[in-house]
Amino acid sequence: METIALKKQIVEAAQELVRKGYLMATGGNLSMRIPGRPAFAITPSNYDYLKMTTDNVSVLDFELTQLEGNLKPSVESAMHGVIYQIRGDVNAIVHTHQVYASALTLIKAPIPALFDEQARFLGRSVEIIPYAPSGTGFLKNTAAKHVKNRNNAFMMQNHGALVFGHDMERAIHNVEILEKCSLAYLLAICTERKVSRIPLAVREIAFAKLRKDQKKVEQGKFDLGGE
Ligand code: 13P
Ligand code: ZN
Repeated sequence: METIALKKQIVEAAQELVRKGYLMATGGNLSMRIPGRPAFAITPSNYDYLKMTTDNVSVLDFELTQLEGNLKPSVESAMHGVIYQIRGDVNAIVHTHQVYASALTLIKAPIPALFDEQARFLGRSVEIIPYAPSGTGFLKNTAAKHVKNRNNAFMMQNHGALVFGHDMERAIHNVEILEKCSLAYLLAICTERKVSRIPLAVREIAFAKLRKDQKKVEQGKFDLGGE
């Protein structure tokens, strides 16, 4: 994919997430790996997503040198960059301040495997990445440690969500699955009754399918028509 087409996807994805209520004001940030180059494209810092154009999307290398873009890149660029270096299966990253997942971070409640599609696309559980201030090396390093477990969604304590996909469409679907799980879990917790989980064996089968996809992506032979 040409870099300009990739930047267009980022702009369109950001605006779709604003319309759907997952991105508010200028919070959050989105990026995509640039195929065949040690670089990624990322949204500008503190800039209105509805005004954003492809010229405002930066291209950075993994040393965070700005190669393209007419605005300051996101303060979370270092975190996105390190994730692409650790996770060869991840080609799109979405960080949001979506409300229900953010609420779970306030009570430091990871989401266990509650639904089949959660285990299939988000991973074994949605863990909490311990608090570190936004845009710092502390947050980058803490996130880097957690993402090694191959899950595709995380919650950042007192902050928001961090979601991955092998492409931007999948990352957006994963943002939506995470918010559905977060709301359902919050409602269930509020009843103070025991929250049931999917059977462990089912969770493992679903997670194995996700791992199979991830390995195909890393080998460059992912079939989008997969299970
Ligand atoms: P940026 O606008 O710099 O991307 O920062 C927003 C954010 O969500 C920081 O965590
Ligand atoms: Zn944030």
